[in-house]
Amino acid sequence: MSNRYKILIIEDELNICNFVKTILETNGYQVLIANTGSVGITMCLSHRPDTIILDLGLPDIDGNDLIKKVRERLNIPIIVLSARSNESDKVTALDYGANDYVTKPFGTEELLARVRAVLRNSRQNYIGEPHKTKFCTGDMIIDYESRRITVGENEVKLTHTEYDIVELLSLQAGRVLTYSEIIKKIWEYSDSGSIKKLQVNMANIRKKFGEKPGENKYISNELGVGYRMNTEN
Ligand code: CA
Repeated sequence: MSNRYKILIIEDELNICNFVKTILETNGYQVLIANTGSVGITMCLSHRPDTIILDLGLPDIDGNDLIKKVRERLNIPIIVLSARSNESDKVTALDYGANDYVTKPFGTEELLARVRAVLRNSRQNYIGEPHKTKFCTGDMIIDYESRRITVGENEVKLTHTEYDIVELLSLQAGRVLTYSEIIKKIWEYSDSGSIKKLQVNMANIRKKFGEKPGENKYISNELGVGYRMNTEN
């Protein structure tokens, strides 16, 4: 199962470095390690990894500044490792151009799912799959051409806006989209009531999907950050 994607870990804590390295190597990834931000930036430029796993708390550079520096030159997917429970740090990292995050302590499966999702999304952008007609997760199917969604045997009747939100999340399935990212794409402007409006739409979508409150069957609510369409793998 050697896929040989090259992944750069930028992290100063050795035990976390080794933990992540072992997980990735066991799953066929090639791993590079940088213990400081400045070494990390140099390695990005010289090795062109397929994904960067970045700890926000580095000894020499603030993680968010590193994201900005990398984004000025390269479009490599970045997954942030955050020990901080502060949601605004995650939102800042995503706004600076990180693709996703995992919060420490994290599990093996969670990390691997994030890595697969960012690699899949960057591959799709690269190949530019313009004729994707359907999306499936669990027993839900979205037919992009007819704008029809079914769960099992049943058609889910969504409003125009509700459908647009679900479609947007599905096109980047596995990745968290921040509230402001969704609001900008759906309504093209945002005001103080926008998050409330989004939450109301999401509550209706979940109800129509038959999800119970707190259940994250198709769409996960990342509290204080945004929403994520779940993927099966
Ligand atoms: Ca650290």
